[in-house]
Amino acid sequence: MTLHLSNSPQDIAKAAELLQQGELVSFATETVYGLGGNARDDQAVAGIFEAKGRPRFNPLIVHFPDRQAAAQEVLFSPMALELAEAFWPGPLTLVLPRREDSRISLLCSAGLDTLAVRVPAPETARTLLRMADCPVAAPSANRAGKISPTRAEHVMDELSRRIAAVLDDGACTIGVESTVVSLADERPSLLRPGGLAREELENLLGAPLELPVADSPVASPGMLRSHYAPQAILRLNATSVGAEEAYLAFGSEPEDKGKACFNLSPAGDLREAAANLFAALRELDRSGISMIAVAPIPDTGLGQAINDRLQRAAAPRVT
Ligand code: AMP
Ligand code: MG
Repeated sequence: MTLHLSNSPQDIAKAAELLQQGELVSFATETVYGLGGNARDDQAVAGIFEAKGRPRFNPLIVHFPDRQAAAQEVLFSPMALELAEAFWPGPLTLVLPRREDSRISLLCSAGLDTLAVRVPAPETARTLLRMADCPVAAPSANRAGKISPTRAEHVMDELSRRIAAVLDDGACTIGVESTVVSLADERPSLLRPGGLAREELENLLGAPLELPVADSPVASPGMLRSHYAPQAILRLNATSVGAEEAYLAFGSEPEDKGKACFNLSPAGDLREAAANLFAALRELDRSGISMIAVAPIPDTGLGQAINDRLQRAAAPRVT
């Protein structure tokens, strides 16, 4: 049963405790209700994709109680600082380079070297984030392809029994998603129009924001070449392993495991496999292997998102 929590101090504390335990909690921001999970907990983040029924791993926005907390995970350029000082807390998400030492789940970055970060405005949300004492990954709290929820009842309608709790803080005051600006490249670009008007940003920057071309690398990070692809070539649906190959296993392992082996989930659990996917690709890549044989992954539930990502990684490289 999904708990319907109020915004009383006791209920906020309960929600924070659930997040710490790796459970999923929906909470209100000024934009829409988010589906939150501990961003440092790979399994919790995989659970977010599972609860949403997302067919692919899009990067997730990670929420913080203040800029100082965000600065422990991403690098703020002078321009990023300026925007954060002007518009946080508020409906602005900044895409910034991840710090090397960040322990945020790689799933939140969907394999990119950047992280989207935001400080939401409502007092309840920030109290929750402070009490949870961990960065909270949160996409909108709706099933994939459905519209974003702006009231706790909307979340209950779609996600009850899939998440531990909804923290009811009334209707969202803005009601559309945050504006997403990338400062990861030389010029700032608008990745998604949203609750903060473009003009306000441009007034502060004193220059127009770049608009991503339809198929630019940053516009839809899930689909593109800038998306982290391993150095090694991937061979999918492999039921045996060549002597020169590494093996990305799922469930039982063949006797001959090639030059290196990483098992996404010895128990054959898709959530565990999703939680391990990006770390596994990085680790096998680091071993210097040039070919990775990948076990068949069932194409159900989170398996669809895993297979989507693997197919992109295996696709011919654009250089
Ligand atoms: P949602 O969490 O569903 O509100 O969507 C988050 C939005 O931010 C999507 O449009 C993502 O593509 C975008 N986004 C999140 N992280 C990144 C990132 N690291 N690089 C580029 N875009 C991002
Ligand atoms: Mg959404």
